[in-house]
Amino acid sequence: MLEDLIRAWDGEEVVVGFDEPSGAWMFVCIHSTRLGPAGGGTRMKAYASPADALRDAMNLSEAMTLKMAAAGVPFGGGKAVVAVPEPPLGDERRRILLRYAELAASLGKTFHTGPDVNTSPADMDIIAEKHPYVYCRSPEHGGSGDPGPYTARGVFHGIRASARHAFGSDDLSARTVLVQGVGDVGGPLAEQLAADGARVLVSDVDGERARVLATRIGAEVVAPEDAIGADCDVYAPCALGGTLNAETVARLRSRVVAGCANNQLAEPDDSERLREAGILYAPDFVINAGGVLYAWGNESLGWDLETVETRLVGIGDTLSEIYAAAESDEVGTHAAAVSLARSRALGAGP
Ligand code: NAD
Repeated sequence: MLEDLIRAWDGEEVVVGFDEPSGAWMFVCIHSTRLGPAGGGTRMKAYASPADALRDAMNLSEAMTLKMAAAGVPFGGGKAVVAVPEPPLGDERRRILLRYAELAASLGKTFHTGPDVNTSPADMDIIAEKHPYVYCRSPEHGGSGDPGPYTARGVFHGIRASARHAFGSDDLSARTVLVQGVGDVGGPLAEQLAADGARVLVSDVDGERARVLATRIGAEVVAPEDAIGADCDVYAPCALGGTLNAETVARLRSRVVAGCANNQLAEPDDSERLREAGILYAPDFVINAGGVLYAWGNESLGWDLETVETRLVGIGDTLSEIYAAAESDEVGTHAAAVSLARSRALGAGP
């Protein structure tokens, strides 16, 4: 199964590790170095099988290639997954991270990593003990810290651009936005939307987290099982990917889907389904580039915060360009975004 996946993949390299004491599988997938060193986060998660973990790393890695290209930065795409039976803590976590860091270091400067689901700046400090190409270490260790609020800021600009296209105005005070998953990105996003006057609905499997945030920012809580069918103008998926499929698209009641989760479409055809349903979809790899623009821009390209903010506003401009192209070519916005990413930097092929 692993061999079949690797044989069928169009990426450049897969590095595999197995940590015998914990049973953790580790996959580093380098999709493309055509534009520069492959950049992408390190995700730590339990998967049903090693093949599921590898498939996730491959998909996420390809999305990073497209993300870097669409964002116009000189980096390629990669991603790492540490597939653990259950998220480790304390000394065991440190041991597994160091074991993973040795594997990442075997790729040298080809692979630059940062935090992702279930990994933090503190984890990056540990990985950096063995692998020198690590972004978003904690500020005490000379890194740029948590990228989540910058990802949120990019999504905020993306929601405004999407509202402008769908409703003719980016004034969010007349809009209801549902944020599904109020963690590192969804939390600050919900806060910015509320501050901008939107009516905000929040939903999270961690009910207490949703309730505490809702009370603080004046939002309303929606039960996780009711999020997809909720009555809103914008659905912002900010938990895990794969929430858009034939069954859920049919139940959506929003005119816009615009959130930070990676790989939101269960399959590429879902972009067409959204188009047919009259729902404007902000391609995930475009709208969620804010954290990368912040960290890679700050740590590798010498950008100050003003330059970062200009680039975050640019996410909205790129989306507007994609929406116009999708309409004139009569294709889904995902296909239009892939074309734009390729034409911006990758040339004709993958
Ligand atoms: P996080 O783990 O901090 O937050 C995710 C939140 O979603 C948690 O509060 C969790 O309880 C909740 N959740 C999980 N499953 C849910 C479900 N089924 N329904 C409702 N809530 C659910 O993660 P994050 O860093 O905020 O990232 C969220 C998503 O955005 C991920 O897909 C990640 O890959 C993507 N992303 C994050 C960044 C970043 O800068 N952190 C950048 C780009 C993309």
